Amino acid sequence: MSVLVAAEFSAHEWAQWWPLLVRALPDEHLVRNRQAVQAGEIDVALVANPAPGSLQGLENLRLIQSLWAGVDRLLCDPSVPSHVPLARMVDPSMRDDMAQTALWAVLGLHRGYFDYAAQQRQGRWHQLELQRADEITVSILGLGEMGRAAAHSIALLGYSVLGWSLSEQLVSGVRTHHGAAALPSVLAQSRVVINLLPLTPSTRGLFDAHLLGQLPKGASLVNLARGAHVVESDLLESLDDGHLHRAVLDVFDTEPLPPEHPFWSHPRVTVLPHIAAPGDPRSGALIAAANVRALRAGLALKHIVERTRGY
Ligand code: NAP
Repeated sequence: MSVLVAAEFSAHEWAQWWPLLVRALPDEHLVRNRQAVQAGEIDVALVANPAPGSLQGLENLRLIQSLWAGVDRLLCDPSVPSHVPLARMVDPSMRDDMAQTALWAVLGLHRGYFDYAAQQRQGRWHQLELQRADEITVSILGLGEMGRAAAHSIALLGYSVLGWSLSEQLVSGVRTHHGAAALPSVLAQSRVVINLLPLTPSTRGLFDAHLLGQLPKGASLVNLARGAHVVESDLLESLDDGHLHRAVLDVFDTEPLPPEHPFWSHPRVTVLPHIAAPGDPRSGALIAAANVRALRAGLALKHIVERTRGY
């Protein structure tokens, strides 16, 4: 049998991932091009944002292992066979990356570093008033692999941290809430809201005018999850009418962010090119390989997505 690597990788990403996957799976026959073997010979697909339809007609597929954490694109592709277990990438190195990015955003917002960067461009020397960390409430929406790590690290620096999830979760140093009914009160207390929800039918477009309007005036939004969580026109309106102070955005409806997009030049928007937690191919290849070996040995597969809930 063969393992198909189906990825929309750049040449650089192929150069990183391919040798690591080959080394991590020495007993497997890996192919990059599905035409290289009969469709029936492929029983495992290692995928990273594959083009829609890439897995169609693979009748003997037994495992789809994502090399990326988010699987929303795969779940939207009707040609991805729904009876085949789909595993997402859960890599501790991504948790650390995400915690670092979230911390950077919180520090930048709390201590005015984004505003000082703008002041420097104007040649302006002006010291902003500084509050203590414990006077700043940071809310993390989504307490999964990424959200828990971010919440924990931010709490360790002394911020007042709220967490919100679907079911009840406990995170050390974090006041946690769950369920839709708890969201308005979480939002109303938030000076900084960090989105680390998965993209599902119930979270798509969640950050619209209604949600943003529930934040206190002067709050800031940090979106490190998926662009489609945010209604971009509503966010721009909230920034422009002075309700939101700032947005720090790593993910967008369209990526790369189109050159004409107003976010690029907005004075209170910070744009990152989807680098909050890029994942490390060195650990990623080993984690993916471990699940392939578990499949071959008849052992339990790890990090299987619950398709009915969408993450
Ligand atoms: P995860 O482990 O699946 O955790 C999801 C969390 O969201 C869980 O706490 C879950 O609640 C909660 N949740 C789901 N639906 C909800 C709802 N309707 N209402 C309230 N809470 C809800 O996800 P993850 O691996 O941490 O990833 C989080 C996000 O980060 C994803 O969107 C992923 O694509 C994105 N991401 C971005 C980057 C980047 O570089 N920007 C890198 C990696 C991941 P329960 O705990 O009750 O299940």
